Amino acid sequence: MRIDVADIKQEIGLQKRTDLSVTLESIEFGGAEVRFDRPFTGTAEIWNLGDRLLLKAELQGEASLACSRCLRRYTEPLSVAFDEEFVERQDAGGETAEEDNAESGRTVSFYSGDEVDVTDVVRDHILLALPMKPLCSEDCEGLCPRCGKDLNEGPCGCGESDESVDPRLAVLKDLLRKPDSHS
Ligand SMILES: [Zn+2]
Ligand SMILES: [Zn+2]
Repeated sequence: MRIDVADIKQEIGLQKRTDLSVTLESIEFGGAEVRFDRPFTGTAEIWNLGDRLLLKAELQGEASLACSRCLRRYTEPLSVAFDEEFVERQDAGGETAEEDNAESGRTVSFYSGDEVDVTDVVRDHILLALPMKPLCSEDCEGLCPRCGKDLNEGPCGCGESDESVDPRLAVLKDLLRKPDSHS
């Protein structure tokens, strides 16, 4: 999504407020596909600081993630709020990478002409907001490590064999538990 900044570029100190609606492509994250089925929406304020523009944005949306325990797909609500500085790129073939502004601690992005494209910076901040270990619910039971059944749907029954320990293993366990007679 692009914000038209022609009006605020005319004078230092000018600012504008605008609605945001940012559509993001699916991405690969931690080996699983993250889908964004609806656009992220919110508001942005953008100021002309003279040598740069300051964007303050707030967005809400949701991501479709695979639960790290049961592998089921679920919807995680996400909201982000961030500041970002945009510096006008003078030469057309210049660097496109972001830089860090040591002074303000904000990341600096580039724009050219009268429009600021916010899609990349929104995506970067959404990625930072994604959970490292996605969980469909705090108390997701996950999959049975033996039979692979989704334990959220009920017990699998394969765990019953736990109670009948192999008698040969029981003997071994007893031996290991005995104190060392040499000491
Ligand atoms: Zn789960
Ligand atoms: Zn099982």
